[in-house]
Amino acid sequence: MEISFTGRRALVTGAGKGIGRATALALVKCGAEVIAVTRTQADLDTLVKECPSIQPVCVDLSDWDATERALRSIGPVDLLVNNAGYGGQQPFLDVTQEEFDKCFNINVKGALHVAQIVARGMKARGSGGSIVNVSSQASQRALRDHAVYCATKGALDMLTKVMALELGPHQIRVNSINPTVVMTEMGRTGWSDPEKAKTMISHIPLGKFAEVEDVVHSILFLLSDKSAMTNGIIMPVDGGFLAC
Ligand code: NDP
Repeated sequence: MEISFTGRRALVTGAGKGIGRATALALVKCGAEVIAVTRTQADLDTLVKECPSIQPVCVDLSDWDATERALRSIGPVDLLVNNAGYGGQQPFLDVTQEEFDKCFNINVKGALHVAQIVARGMKARGSGGSIVNVSSQASQRALRDHAVYCATKGALDMLTKVMALELGPHQIRVNSINPTVVMTEMGRTGWSDPEKAKTMISHIPLGKFAEVEDVVHSILFLLSDKSAMTNGIIMPVDGGFLAC
């Protein structure tokens, strides 16, 4: 199955590292014009060096007004990957206000705001579009020390469904992708301890964590017309973790 995004413009958040960076590069390979958004300029510098056609935007997406300013003049966007995320860990009884706000501000509020900006343009142009929210298996299953992260991803899944409901009539599809652990910088922070990793893997029927490419391929499918009738789904990329 060949996927082409020739003639389409795509915006990827959190494109400096990990899943977002790989998604941005894969979209370029499929012919899309890509806008890469993240908050560390050095990551954007190396990304543009690797792929000069990428349009970089440096902004902290947890800052509502700065996001508005940064994305005001990006032009039409057909495809959005709401990928930027933060995954701090604290036992429930130790959760702080700072950690709660930090996690919700990027994982939920930031995703909502970027999608609003992009979807308003899609609606105005009447051109439709596809949005993928990068959620997690943590949205559906309790994970120790991940109270706030789990709550943000649960909120993001519900946001996906309401967006699908309200934006569907404008031919804008919205879906969630829900990976298991991927050994990116974020994955390593949470799952480098071999005992912890072993326990998690023992609950994944395929017996392994996901690779970045596993997630990227599913994102590309949901962005593409190959999934033209798929709207409002929560798609696990989890080796079967959520099935059992
Ligand atoms: P990484 O930490 O490797 O990359 C996250 C990217 O998002 C970084 O470029 C980071 O920039 C950027 N980012 C974070 N906060 C902000 C912000 N406030 N404004 C702008 N950019 C920001 O994470 P992953 O690639 O692993 O994760 C990507 C997504 O996948 C996240 O939503 C995560 O929750 C989800 N996910 C990850 C899993 C995993 O095991 N890795 C499993 C399931 C879901 P900077 O480094 O400068 O902060």
